[in-house]
Amino acid sequence: MKDSPQNWLQRIQSAFTASAQLLAPRPAACLLCGKPQNEARSAANYNHAKLTTRLRQSLCGACLSAIPWLTRIACLKCGRGIPCEDCIRSPHRPFVCNRSAVHYNQAMRAMLALYKYRGNEQLAPLLGDMLLPTFEAMTAEISRRFSTPSGRRSKAKWRIADYWDAVTYVPVSEERSIDRGFNQAEQLASHIAQRYRLPLMHLLIRSRHSEKQSFKTRSERMRDTKSLFSGNSAELRMLHTYALSSLGRAQPSRKVIRVLLIDDIFTTGSTADACSEQLNRHAEHPLEIYVLTWARS
Ligand SMILES: [Zn+2]
Ligand SMILES: [Zn+2]
Repeated sequence: MKDSPQNWLQRIQSAFTASAQLLAPRPAACLLCGKPQNEARSAANYNHAKLTTRLRQSLCGACLSAIPWLTRIACLKCGRGIPCEDCIRSPHRPFVCNRSAVHYNQAMRAMLALYKYRGNEQLAPLLGDMLLPTFEAMTAEISRRFSTPSGRRSKAKWRIADYWDAVTYVPVSEERSIDRGFNQAEQLASHIAQRYRLPLMHLLIRSRHSEKQSFKTRSERMRDTKSLFSGNSAELRMLHTYALSSLGRAQPSRKVIRVLLIDDIFTTGSTADACSEQLNRHAEHPLEIYVLTWARS
């Protein structure tokens, strides 16, 4: 059959429509579940006003609304959402407090595993972004301690960077860092440091490789963890030189060097304890250590 001009025109039109469909931007797949992002977006109930654009654009609505943000804190020391026996048992910890962004539930375990064990490094900035609201809230808590005598917070614009001297992280053993190719805690720390223009310092050294912590009892864990870390004296000296030269400029009443220690998960706090003890031991000037973790288990 010979093509009539109408048939020919129709064919061109349908070919054009097909190629236009191919060229149209497709919704990107959610980095967690792999579904097109706009599919579940309408079902999303974002309870968190401070999601970054990157988070909104990388995860689908269902995955976003499944994030168990830890916004209500029951234990002011370790940042747990429920009252906490660990802190009652040992109220004197070498750090000021811990705050975590999320509860470590099944979904968060899966998210961390994708990043940490399956090497999906695209997730690193997302996990870093998830820390931001918690870090800002923690800094706001500190800023409230520097209120004006009338009890009202100073109206002067406060900068997050004024409250911190350095960001550091829990180091992993060399074997693990070679296996994995990265240290998740260092990546999270670097994310915070870049975002707020804070110095990222390597204040701790991991002395040896530890067995998997999850198979151990609480007391085995604590005994083991104690000898895992030591202070990096060269970096600590640099911190003191740097911090002492600027201390008191932003907050004249501040007499301590304030350090942010970052890790992925806070379980019993034995790692945070061991790291903070080492930092304090090597400090020539009093340190105030705050712990920021991605998840509280
Ligand atoms: Zn998803
Ligand atoms: Zn606690």
